[in-house]
Amino acid sequence: MFPNDLPGFDGDTLHEECGVFGILAPGEDVARVTYFALYALQHRGQESAGIATYDEGSIHVHHGMGLVAQAFSEPELSQLTGSMAVGHTRYSTSGSVRANNCGPILTQSDLGSIVVAHNGNLTNAVALREELESHGEVFESSTDSEVLARVIARAPGVTIVDRIRNAMARMIGAFSLAILAEGRVFAVRDPYGVRPLCLGTLHGHKVVASETAALMTIGATFDREVEAGEIVELREGDVVSHGATPASHEALCLFEMIYFARPDSQIRGLRLHEARQRMGRELYREHPIEADVVVGLPDSATPATIGYAKESGIPYAEALIKNRYIGRTFIQPDQKLRERGVSLKFNVIPEVVAGKRVVLVDDTIVRGTTSRPIVNLLRDAGAKEIHMRVHAPPIVWPCYLGVDFARREELIAARLSVQEIGEEIGADSIAYLSLDGLFRAIGSNGAGFCTGCLTGSYPVPAFTSLDKLALEVRSKNGSRATKVGIAK
Ligand code: SF4
Repeated sequence: MFPNDLPGFDGDTLHEECGVFGILAPGEDVARVTYFALYALQHRGQESAGIATYDEGSIHVHHGMGLVAQAFSEPELSQLTGSMAVGHTRYSTSGSVRANNCGPILTQSDLGSIVVAHNGNLTNAVALREELESHGEVFESSTDSEVLARVIARAPGVTIVDRIRNAMARMIGAFSLAILAEGRVFAVRDPYGVRPLCLGTLHGHKVVASETAALMTIGATFDREVEAGEIVELREGDVVSHGATPASHEALCLFEMIYFARPDSQIRGLRLHEARQRMGRELYREHPIEADVVVGLPDSATPATIGYAKESGIPYAEALIKNRYIGRTFIQPDQKLRERGVSLKFNVIPEVVAGKRVVLVDDTIVRGTTSRPIVNLLRDAGAKEIHMRVHAPPIVWPCYLGVDFARREELIAARLSVQEIGEEIGADSIAYLSLDGLFRAIGSNGAGFCTGCLTGSYPVPAFTSLDKLALEVRSKNGSRATKVGIAK
Protein backbone atom coordinates (compact mmCIF):
# COMPACT_ATOMS: atom_id res chain seq x y z
CA MET A 1 0.00 0.00 0.00
CA PHE A 2 1.25 3.43 -0.87
CA PRO A 3 0.65 6.37 1.42
CA ASN A 4 -1.63 7.71 -1.27
CA ASP A 5 -4.13 5.30 0.22
CA LEU A 6 -3.86 6.77 3.68
CA PRO A 7 -6.42 9.05 5.24
CA GLY A 8 -5.47 12.66 4.99
CA PHE A 9 -3.32 12.04 1.98
CA ASP A 10 -3.97 12.90 -1.61
CA GLY A 11 -5.38 9.48 -2.45
CA ASP A 12 -8.60 10.51 -4.12
CA THR A 13 -7.32 11.95 -7.33
CA LEU A 14 -7.78 10.34 -10.68
CA HIS A 15 -4.59 8.74 -11.83
CA GLU A 16 -3.23 9.52 -15.23
CA GLU A 17 -2.59 6.77 -17.62
CA CYS A 18 0.95 7.06 -18.99
CA GLY A 19 2.92 9.48 -21.09
CA VAL A 20 4.65 8.71 -24.38
CA PHE A 21 7.30 10.39 -26.47
CA GLY A 22 9.12 9.63 -29.73
CA ILE A 23 11.86 11.35 -31.71
CA LEU A 24 13.79 10.91 -34.94
CA ALA A 25 16.83 13.18 -34.83
CA PRO A 26 20.13 12.01 -36.33
CA GLY A 27 23.01 13.84 -34.73
CA GLU A 28 21.10 14.70 -31.55
CA ASP A 29 21.37 13.00 -28.17
CA VAL A 30 17.94 11.45 -28.59
CA ALA A 31 17.98 9.62 -25.24
CA ARG A 32 18.67 12.84 -23.35
CA VAL A 33 15.93 14.72 -25.21
CA THR A 34 13.54 11.84 -24.47
CA TYR A 35 14.55 11.89 -20.82
CA PHE A 36 13.60 15.55 -20.48
CA ALA A 37 10.38 15.08 -22.44
CA LEU A 38 9.45 12.26 -20.04
CA TYR A 39 10.37 14.56 -17.18
CA ALA A 40 7.68 16.94 -18.46
CA LEU A 41 5.23 14.03 -18.72
CA GLN A 42 5.92 12.82 -15.20
CA HIS A 43 2.39 13.69 -14.08
CA ARG A 44 1.02 11.05 -16.46
CA GLY A 45 2.84 8.21 -14.74
CA GLN A 46 5.09 7.92 -11.73
CA GLU A 47 5.48 4.20 -11.26
CA SER A 48 8.17 3.55 -13.84
CA ALA A 49 9.89 5.05 -16.85
CA GLY A 50 11.71 3.67 -19.85
CA ILE A 51 13.51 4.67 -23.03
CA ALA A 52 14.41 2.62 -26.10
CA THR A 53 16.77 3.90 -28.79
CA TYR A 54 17.63 2.60 -32.24
CA ASP A 55 21.27 2.65 -33.32
CA GLU A 56 22.20 1.18 -36.69
CA GLY A 57 20.17 -2.00 -36.34
CA SER A 58 20.43 -2.41 -32.59
CA ILE A 59 17.84 -1.44 -30.02
CA HIS A 60 18.98 -0.32 -26.60
CA VAL A 61 16.46 -0.32 -23.76
CA HIS A 62 16.48 0.88 -20.21
CA HIS A 63 13.57 0.66 -17.79
CA GLY A 64 13.49 1.69 -14.16
CA MET A 65 10.97 1.86 -11.35
CA GLY A 66 9.84 5.16 -9.88
CA LEU A 67 10.12 8.68 -11.20
CA VAL A 68 12.04 9.52 -14.35
CA ALA A 69 14.85 10.98 -12.25
CA GLN A 70 15.05 7.75 -10.24
CA ALA A 71 14.83 5.44 -13.25
CA PHE A 72 17.87 6.84 -15.07
CA SER A 73 21.44 7.66 -14.14
CA GLU A 74 23.93 9.46 -16.35
CA PRO A 75 25.84 6.26 -17.34
CA GLU A 76 22.60 4.46 -18.20
CA LEU A 77 21.43 7.35 -20.31
CA SER A 78 24.73 7.62 -22.15
CA GLN A 79 24.51 3.96 -23.20
CA LEU A 80 21.25 4.69 -25.00
CA THR A 81 22.86 5.69 -28.27
CA GLY A 82 21.15 6.14 -31.60
CA SER A 83 19.29 8.44 -33.91
CA MET A 84 15.76 7.74 -32.76
CA ALA A 85 14.01 6.92 -29.52
CA VAL A 86 10.71 6.28 -27.84
CA GLY A 87 10.01 6.79 -24.14
CA HIS A 88 7.31 6.03 -21.62
CA THR A 89 6.20 7.02 -18.14
CA ARG A 90 3.85 4.52 -16.59
CA TYR A 91 0.91 4.52 -14.29
CA SER A 92 -0.60 1.05 -14.10
CA THR A 93 -4.12 0.95 -15.43
CA SER A 94 -3.46 -2.61 -16.57
CA GLY A 95 -1.10 -4.88 -14.67
CA SER A 96 0.63 -4.37 -11.36
CA VAL A 97 3.62 -2.21 -10.42
CA ARG A 98 6.63 -4.33 -11.19
CA ALA A 99 9.73 -4.23 -13.28
CA ASN A 100 8.63 -6.44 -16.14
CA ASN A 101 5.51 -4.34 -16.65
CA CYS A 102 7.55 -1.22 -17.40
CA GLY A 103 7.21 0.45 -20.76
CA PRO A 104 8.12 0.83 -23.49
CA ILE A 105 7.42 -2.78 -24.44
CA LEU A 106 9.92 -4.58 -26.65
CA THR A 107 8.73 -7.55 -28.69
CA GLN A 108 10.02 -9.50 -31.66
CA SER A 109 8.50 -10.11 -35.06
CA ASP A 110 9.68 -11.44 -38.39
CA LEU A 111 10.16 -7.78 -39.36
CA GLY A 112 12.57 -7.35 -36.44
CA SER A 113 12.14 -5.74 -33.04
CA ILE A 114 9.10 -3.63 -32.32
CA VAL A 115 9.08 -1.20 -29.39
CA VAL A 116 5.78 0.29 -28.25
CA ALA A 117 5.12 3.10 -25.77
CA HIS A 118 1.40 3.02 -24.97
CA ASN A 119 -0.95 5.47 -23.29
CA GLY A 120 -4.47 4.15 -22.81
CA ASN A 121 -6.28 0.91 -22.14
CA LEU A 122 -7.38 -1.92 -24.42
CA THR A 123 -10.79 -3.13 -23.37
CA ASN A 124 -10.46 -6.40 -25.32
CA ALA A 125 -6.95 -7.18 -24.06
CA VAL A 126 -7.96 -10.43 -22.34
CA ALA A 127 -9.60 -11.85 -25.47
CA LEU A 128 -6.67 -10.80 -27.66
CA ARG A 129 -4.18 -12.28 -25.25
CA GLU A 130 -6.06 -15.58 -25.03
CA GLU A 131 -6.10 -15.76 -28.79
CA LEU A 132 -2.35 -15.11 -29.02
CA GLU A 133 -1.63 -17.63 -26.27
CA SER A 134 -3.66 -20.25 -28.10
CA HIS A 135 -1.14 -19.82 -30.92
CA GLY A 136 1.78 -20.36 -28.57
CA GLU A 137 2.62 -16.77 -27.69
CA VAL A 138 4.30 -16.50 -24.29
CA PHE A 139 3.85 -13.22 -22.43
CA GLU A 140 6.43 -11.64 -20.16
CA SER A 141 4.25 -9.03 -18.48
CA SER A 142 0.68 -8.59 -17.32
CA THR A 143 0.01 -5.42 -19.30
CA ASP A 144 -2.36 -4.69 -22.13
CA SER A 145 0.56 -2.81 -23.71
CA GLU A 146 2.37 -6.10 -24.32
CA VAL A 147 -0.81 -7.53 -25.82
CA LEU A 148 -0.97 -4.50 -28.09
CA ALA A 149 2.69 -4.83 -29.13
CA ARG A 150 2.28 -8.53 -29.90
CA VAL A 151 -0.95 -7.98 -31.83
CA ILE A 152 1.02 -5.58 -34.06
CA ALA A 153 3.91 -8.04 -34.35
CA ARG A 154 1.62 -10.91 -35.41
CA ALA A 155 -0.81 -8.90 -37.53
CA PRO A 156 -1.02 -9.74 -41.24
CA GLY A 157 0.82 -7.43 -43.59
CA VAL A 158 4.05 -7.17 -45.52
CA THR A 159 5.07 -3.81 -44.10
CA ILE A 160 5.03 -2.50 -40.56
CA VAL A 161 2.47 0.12 -41.58
CA ASP A 162 0.13 -2.64 -42.83
CA ARG A 163 0.57 -4.47 -39.58
CA ILE A 164 -0.14 -1.44 -37.45
CA ARG A 165 -3.23 -0.71 -39.52
CA ASN A 166 -4.49 -4.30 -39.32
CA ALA A 167 -3.77 -4.45 -35.59
CA MET A 168 -5.69 -1.22 -35.04
CA ALA A 169 -8.76 -2.81 -36.58
CA ARG A 170 -8.63 -5.56 -33.93
CA MET A 171 -7.91 -3.45 -30.87
CA ILE A 172 -10.78 -1.89 -28.93
CA GLY A 173 -10.14 0.91 -26.50
CA ALA A 174 -7.76 3.78 -26.02
CA PHE A 175 -4.27 3.81 -27.44
CA SER A 176 -1.95 6.68 -28.22
CA LEU A 177 1.34 5.14 -29.26
CA ALA A 178 4.94 5.95 -30.07
CA ILE A 179 6.39 2.99 -31.98
CA LEU A 180 9.96 2.18 -32.96
CA ALA A 181 10.23 -0.48 -35.66
CA GLU A 182 12.40 -1.18 -38.72
CA GLY A 183 14.51 1.84 -37.86
CA ARG A 184 11.44 4.08 -38.16
CA VAL A 185 9.34 5.99 -35.63
CA PHE A 186 5.55 6.09 -35.76
CA ALA A 187 2.86 7.98 -33.90
CA VAL A 188 -0.50 6.23 -33.72
CA ARG A 189 -3.81 7.26 -32.20
CA ASP A 190 -6.88 5.08 -31.73
CA PRO A 191 -9.92 5.72 -33.94
CA TYR A 192 -11.74 7.58 -31.15
CA GLY A 193 -8.74 9.72 -30.20
CA VAL A 194 -9.37 9.05 -26.51
CA ARG A 195 -5.90 10.11 -25.34
CA PRO A 196 -4.05 13.15 -26.69
CA LEU A 197 -1.03 12.90 -28.97
CA CYS A 198 0.74 15.75 -30.72
CA LEU A 199 3.53 16.33 -33.22
CA GLY A 200 6.28 18.90 -32.94
CA THR A 201 9.57 20.08 -34.40
CA LEU A 202 12.88 20.34 -32.58
CA HIS A 203 15.71 21.98 -34.54
CA GLY A 204 14.14 20.67 -37.74
CA HIS A 205 13.68 17.15 -36.33
CA LYS A 206 10.26 15.62 -35.75
CA VAL A 207 8.95 14.51 -32.37
CA VAL A 208 5.72 13.12 -30.97
CA ALA A 209 4.48 13.56 -27.40
CA SER A 210 1.43 12.97 -25.27
CA GLU A 211 1.17 16.67 -24.50
CA THR A 212 2.37 19.97 -25.86
CA ALA A 213 3.92 20.78 -22.46
CA ALA A 214 6.60 18.18 -23.23
CA LEU A 215 7.33 19.97 -26.52
CA MET A 216 7.76 23.26 -24.66
CA THR A 217 10.11 21.66 -22.15
CA ILE A 218 12.52 20.37 -24.80
CA GLY A 219 12.30 23.55 -26.87
CA ALA A 220 10.22 22.07 -29.68
CA THR A 221 7.42 23.87 -31.48
CA PHE A 222 3.93 22.41 -31.74
CA ASP A 223 2.92 21.37 -35.26
CA ARG A 224 -0.43 19.62 -34.93
CA GLU A 225 -2.32 16.89 -33.12
CA VAL A 226 -2.25 13.35 -34.47
CA GLU A 227 -5.75 12.73 -35.80
CA ALA A 228 -8.01 10.05 -34.41
CA GLY A 229 -7.21 6.76 -36.13
CA GLU A 230 -4.12 8.20 -37.83
CA ILE A 231 -0.74 6.56 -38.40
CA VAL A 232 2.04 9.13 -38.77
CA GLU A 233 5.66 8.38 -39.56
CA LEU A 234 8.37 10.73 -38.37
CA ARG A 235 10.89 11.36 -41.13
CA GLU A 236 13.94 13.61 -41.25
CA GLY A 237 12.53 17.12 -41.21
CA ASP A 238 9.03 16.01 -42.06
CA VAL A 239 6.19 13.68 -41.17
CA VAL A 240 4.28 11.38 -43.48
CA SER A 241 0.72 10.47 -42.71
CA HIS A 242 -0.17 6.92 -43.65
CA GLY A 243 -3.83 7.83 -43.42
CA ALA A 244 -6.45 8.01 -40.74
CA THR A 245 -9.28 5.59 -40.08
CA PRO A 246 -11.35 7.45 -37.51
CA ALA A 247 -14.40 6.05 -35.79
CA SER A 248 -17.81 7.51 -36.54
CA HIS A 249 -17.18 10.10 -33.81
CA GLU A 250 -14.20 11.29 -31.81
CA ALA A 251 -14.17 10.72 -28.07
CA LEU A 252 -11.33 12.59 -26.42
CA CYS A 253 -11.37 11.95 -22.66
CA LEU A 254 -13.11 14.95 -21.10
CA PHE A 255 -10.91 14.59 -18.03
CA GLU A 256 -7.87 15.51 -20.11
CA MET A 257 -9.46 18.95 -20.28
CA ILE A 258 -10.52 19.00 -16.62
CA TYR A 259 -7.59 17.46 -14.85
CA PHE A 260 -5.12 15.07 -16.52
CA ALA A 261 -3.23 17.17 -18.98
CA ARG A 262 -0.95 19.90 -17.68
CA PRO A 263 -2.46 23.39 -17.55
CA ASP A 264 0.33 24.64 -19.82
CA SER A 265 -0.63 22.06 -22.46
CA GLN A 266 -2.84 22.84 -25.38
CA ILE A 267 -5.55 20.51 -26.67
CA ARG A 268 -7.84 21.28 -29.62
CA GLY A 269 -6.46 24.79 -29.66
CA LEU A 270 -7.29 25.48 -26.02
CA ARG A 271 -4.66 26.33 -23.41
CA LEU A 272 -5.89 24.27 -20.50
CA HIS A 273 -5.07 26.85 -17.84
CA GLU A 274 -7.46 29.25 -19.56
CA ALA A 275 -10.08 26.53 -20.17
CA ARG A 276 -10.02 25.56 -16.50
CA GLN A 277 -10.34 29.18 -15.41
CA ARG A 278 -13.49 29.32 -17.51
CA MET A 279 -14.73 26.17 -15.75
CA GLY A 280 -14.32 28.05 -12.47
CA ARG A 281 -16.24 31.03 -13.85
CA GLU A 282 -19.09 28.76 -15.01
CA LEU A 283 -19.05 27.06 -11.63
CA TYR A 284 -19.67 30.38 -9.90
CA ARG A 285 -22.41 31.35 -12.35
CA GLU A 286 -24.18 28.04 -11.68
CA HIS A 287 -23.49 27.84 -7.96
CA PRO A 288 -22.85 31.25 -6.39
CA ILE A 289 -22.32 31.59 -2.67
CA GLU A 290 -21.53 34.43 -0.30
CA ALA A 291 -18.08 33.90 1.13
CA ASP A 292 -14.92 35.66 2.27
CA VAL A 293 -12.22 33.71 0.46
CA VAL A 294 -11.84 31.20 -2.39
CA VAL A 295 -9.20 28.52 -1.96
CA GLY A 296 -8.37 25.57 -4.15
CA LEU A 297 -6.83 22.17 -3.87
CA PRO A 298 -3.32 22.60 -5.27
CA ASP A 299 -2.23 22.24 -7.92
CA SER A 300 -4.81 20.79 -10.23
CA ALA A 301 -7.74 22.95 -9.09
CA THR A 302 -5.78 26.21 -9.06
CA PRO A 303 -6.84 27.55 -12.49
CA ALA A 304 -10.54 26.92 -11.77
CA THR A 305 -10.16 28.46 -8.31
CA ILE A 306 -8.77 31.61 -9.92
CA GLY A 307 -11.70 31.57 -12.34
CA TYR A 308 -14.25 31.20 -9.53
CA ALA A 309 -12.64 34.07 -7.64
CA LYS A 310 -12.52 36.34 -10.71
CA GLU A 311 -16.15 35.70 -11.58
CA SER A 312 -17.42 36.10 -8.01
CA GLY A 313 -15.21 38.96 -6.92
CA ILE A 314 -14.40 36.99 -3.77
CA PRO A 315 -10.66 37.17 -3.02
CA TYR A 316 -8.53 34.23 -4.09
CA ALA A 317 -5.96 32.98 -1.58
CA GLU A 318 -3.57 30.11 -1.12
CA ALA A 319 -4.61 28.31 2.04
CA LEU A 320 -3.60 24.72 1.38
CA ILE A 321 0.12 24.24 0.93
CA LYS A 322 1.16 21.07 -0.81
CA ASN A 323 4.40 19.29 -0.18
CA ARG A 324 5.56 19.24 -3.80
CA TYR A 325 8.70 17.27 -3.06
CA ILE A 326 6.90 14.26 -1.77
CA GLY A 327 7.60 10.95 -3.42
CA ARG A 328 6.30 7.56 -2.71
CA THR A 329 7.34 6.06 0.58
CA PHE A 330 6.71 2.65 1.95
CA ILE A 331 6.95 3.93 5.52
CA GLN A 332 3.49 4.00 7.07
CA PRO A 333 2.38 6.41 9.81
CA ASP A 334 1.76 4.52 13.03
CA GLN A 335 -1.68 4.29 14.60
CA LYS A 336 -1.20 7.45 16.70
CA LEU A 337 -0.38 9.48 13.62
CA ARG A 338 -3.32 7.98 11.78
CA GLU A 339 -5.66 8.88 14.59
CA ARG A 340 -4.44 12.45 14.43
CA GLY A 341 -5.39 12.41 10.76
CA VAL A 342 -1.85 13.09 9.65
CA SER A 343 -1.71 14.85 6.36
CA LEU A 344 1.53 14.13 4.61
CA LYS A 345 0.64 16.20 1.64
CA PHE A 346 -1.18 19.35 2.78
CA ASN A 347 -0.89 21.92 5.51
CA VAL A 348 -3.21 24.88 6.02
CA ILE A 349 -2.22 28.50 6.57
CA PRO A 350 -4.60 29.25 9.46
CA GLU A 351 -4.58 33.05 9.03
CA VAL A 352 -6.09 32.68 5.55
CA VAL A 353 -9.19 30.81 6.69
CA ALA A 354 -9.68 31.49 10.42
CA GLY A 355 -13.11 32.97 11.10
CA LYS A 356 -13.93 33.06 7.38
CA ARG A 357 -16.54 31.63 5.05
CA VAL A 358 -14.43 29.55 2.68
CA VAL A 359 -15.16 28.33 -0.85
CA LEU A 360 -13.05 25.22 -1.47
CA VAL A 361 -12.66 24.40 -5.18
CA ASP A 362 -11.65 20.93 -6.33
CA ASP A 363 -11.58 19.27 -9.73
CA THR A 364 -13.15 15.95 -8.83
CA ILE A 365 -14.33 13.86 -5.93
CA VAL A 366 -13.76 10.22 -6.83
CA ARG A 367 -14.04 8.07 -3.72
CA GLY A 368 -14.46 10.92 -1.26
CA THR A 369 -11.60 9.76 0.92
CA THR A 370 -9.54 12.94 0.63
CA SER A 371 -12.27 15.55 0.84
CA ARG A 372 -13.23 14.96 4.45
CA PRO A 373 -9.66 15.24 5.80
CA ILE A 374 -9.19 18.45 3.80
CA VAL A 375 -12.45 19.87 5.14
CA ASN A 376 -11.33 18.85 8.64
CA LEU A 377 -7.98 20.58 8.15
CA LEU A 378 -9.73 23.80 7.17
CA ARG A 379 -12.20 23.47 10.02
CA ASP A 380 -9.40 22.84 12.54
CA ALA A 381 -7.68 25.96 11.22
CA GLY A 382 -10.74 28.00 12.15
CA ALA A 383 -12.81 28.19 8.95
CA LYS A 384 -16.32 29.30 9.86
CA GLU A 385 -18.07 27.80 6.85
CA ILE A 386 -16.77 25.53 4.08
CA HIS A 387 -18.54 25.45 0.72
CA MET A 388 -17.21 22.80 -1.62
CA ARG A 389 -17.38 23.56 -5.34
CA VAL A 390 -16.29 20.99 -7.91
CA HIS A 391 -15.46 22.07 -11.46
CA ALA A 392 -16.67 18.84 -13.05
CA PRO A 393 -19.91 16.85 -12.85
CA PRO A 394 -20.12 13.90 -10.41
CA ILE A 395 -18.31 10.73 -11.53
CA VAL A 396 -20.96 8.03 -11.37
CA TRP A 397 -19.64 5.39 -13.77
CA PRO A 398 -16.31 3.59 -14.06
CA CYS A 399 -13.66 4.29 -16.70
CA TYR A 400 -12.55 1.49 -18.98
CA LEU A 401 -10.26 3.59 -21.10
CA GLY A 402 -7.11 4.09 -19.13
CA VAL A 403 -8.10 5.73 -15.86
CA ASP A 404 -7.86 3.80 -12.65
CA PHE A 405 -11.39 3.65 -11.34
CA ALA A 406 -12.91 0.53 -12.78
CA ARG A 407 -15.43 -0.38 -10.08
CA ARG A 408 -18.65 1.56 -9.69
CA GLU A 409 -19.03 0.79 -6.01
CA GLU A 410 -15.80 2.75 -5.35
CA LEU A 411 -17.40 5.98 -6.56
CA ILE A 412 -18.98 8.15 -3.89
CA ALA A 413 -21.36 9.83 -6.36
CA ALA A 414 -22.67 6.44 -7.46
CA ARG A 415 -23.70 5.70 -3.87
CA LEU A 416 -24.79 9.06 -2.51
CA SER A 417 -26.74 12.09 -3.65
CA VAL A 418 -24.89 15.40 -3.94
CA GLN A 419 -26.36 16.55 -0.64
CA GLU A 420 -25.33 13.29 1.05
CA ILE A 421 -21.80 13.70 -0.30
CA GLY A 422 -21.68 17.14 1.30
CA GLU A 423 -22.77 15.65 4.62
CA GLU A 424 -20.30 12.79 4.29
CA ILE A 425 -17.34 15.09 3.77
CA GLY A 426 -18.53 17.60 6.35
CA ALA A 427 -19.00 20.61 4.06
CA ASP A 428 -21.65 23.28 4.73
CA SER A 429 -22.68 23.11 1.10
CA ILE A 430 -21.53 21.35 -2.03
CA ALA A 431 -22.18 21.82 -5.75
CA TYR A 432 -20.80 20.45 -9.00
CA LEU A 433 -20.42 22.08 -12.40
CA SER A 434 -23.00 20.74 -14.84
CA LEU A 435 -21.99 18.97 -18.04
CA ASP A 436 -23.50 21.84 -20.05
CA GLY A 437 -21.50 24.32 -18.00
CA LEU A 438 -18.36 22.31 -18.61
CA PHE A 439 -18.95 22.28 -22.36
CA ARG A 440 -19.67 26.01 -22.32
CA ALA A 441 -16.32 26.53 -20.61
CA ILE A 442 -14.46 24.72 -23.39
CA GLY A 443 -16.57 26.19 -26.17
CA SER A 444 -17.95 22.83 -27.22
CA ASN A 445 -21.40 21.53 -28.05
CA GLY A 446 -20.39 18.24 -26.47
CA ALA A 447 -19.49 16.45 -29.68
CA GLY A 448 -16.14 14.70 -29.86
CA PHE A 449 -15.64 13.94 -26.19
CA CYS A 450 -15.90 10.82 -24.07
CA THR A 451 -18.20 11.46 -21.12
CA GLY A 452 -18.51 7.80 -20.11
CA CYS A 453 -17.79 8.18 -16.40
CA LEU A 454 -20.24 11.09 -16.15
CA THR A 455 -23.10 9.79 -18.29
CA GLY A 456 -22.58 6.02 -18.65
CA SER A 457 -22.40 6.48 -22.41
CA TYR A 458 -19.05 5.20 -23.68
CA PRO A 459 -17.51 5.48 -27.12
CA VAL A 460 -16.36 1.88 -27.35
CA PRO A 461 -18.85 -0.95 -27.59
CA ALA A 462 -17.37 -3.75 -25.50
CA PHE A 463 -15.73 -3.98 -22.11
CA THR A 464 -13.86 -7.09 -21.24
CA SER A 465 -10.91 -5.71 -19.32
CA LEU A 466 -12.54 -4.21 -16.25
CA ASP A 467 -9.91 -5.25 -13.77
CA LYS A 468 -6.47 -3.72 -14.00
CA LEU A 469 -5.02 -7.03 -12.83
CA ALA A 470 -7.10 -9.05 -15.31
CA LEU A 471 -3.97 -10.19 -17.10
CA GLU A 472 -1.97 -10.73 -13.92
CA VAL A 473 -2.71 -14.39 -13.31
CA ARG A 474 -1.87 -15.17 -16.89
CA SER A 475 1.60 -13.68 -16.90
CA LYS A 476 4.76 -15.57 -16.32
CA ASN A 477 7.52 -13.97 -14.36
CA GLY A 478 9.29 -12.45 -17.29
CA SER A 479 12.97 -11.83 -17.41
CA ARG A 480 12.88 -8.54 -19.24
CA ALA A 481 15.90 -6.60 -18.07
CA THR A 482 15.50 -3.40 -16.16
CA LYS A 483 19.06 -2.50 -16.92
CA VAL A 484 20.34 -1.56 -20.32
CA GLY A 485 19.72 -4.41 -22.70
CA ILE A 486 20.44 -4.79 -26.38
CA ALA A 487 18.22 -6.56 -28.81
CA LYS A 488 18.11 -6.75 -32.55
S1 SF4 B 1 -14.80 7.34 -18.98
FE1 SF4 B 1 -14.26 9.35 -18.07
S2 SF4 B 1 -12.08 9.21 -17.46
FE2 SF4 B 1 -12.55 7.47 -18.85
S3 SF4 B 1 -11.95 8.19 -20.90
FE3 SF4 B 1 -14.14 8.65 -20.67
S4 SF4 B 1 -14.23 10.75 -19.83
FE4 SF4 B 1 -12.13 9.99 -19.56
